Amino acid sequence: MGLSGAPYRFCPHCGDRLAPRVVEGHALPGCPSCPFVAFRDPKVVVAAIAVDRQGRVLVIRRGIAPGLGEWALPGGYVDFDEHPEQGARRECREETGCELGPVRLEGVFHVRLADAGLVVVAYSGRVRAGRPCPTPEAPELGFFAADGVPRLAFESHREALAAWRAAAPVVGAGVG
Ligand SMILES: [Zn+2]
Repeated sequence: MGLSGAPYRFCPHCGDRLAPRVVEGHALPGCPSCPFVAFRDPKVVVAAIAVDRQGRVLVIRRGIAPGLGEWALPGGYVDFDEHPEQGARRECREETGCELGPVRLEGVFHVRLADAGLVVVAYSGRVRAGRPCPTPEAPELGFFAADGVPRLAFESHREALAAWRAAAPVVGAGVG
């Protein structure tokens, strides 16, 4: 996943060798010769709860790690220049061939990995165009009744789905 905790050994600005520096309680690689500190930001990830007209949820079997071969919601990393909502639409389109209509924020979830942190932003919305189409990232996929969704690989996805289930179903999503 490219989530190594210490990506820098040398300062990307001046080339000096980095040394531990304590910043707000965290020991981070800092440059002794300039202000550079290799801050460790959480990665922003999106997940999409894409629902068909029958209220069924689109779930994919993952074709890539992590969670290879396990079920999950469509989703992935947000690009630096896109709104998370755009990211959710893009990932859903790329992974499943399905285009989301208006979406609703279902929640923000925090995942603490061994040496990284993720902020998972989950949206739900009705599929307004397209149909599930296998892709390398999702070699198997389909719509499942809300109470029949297979166990999802990631706790954040399970939490997002639970939040969606607990809320009222999406109403007035445009195309009926
Ligand atoms: Zn430097």
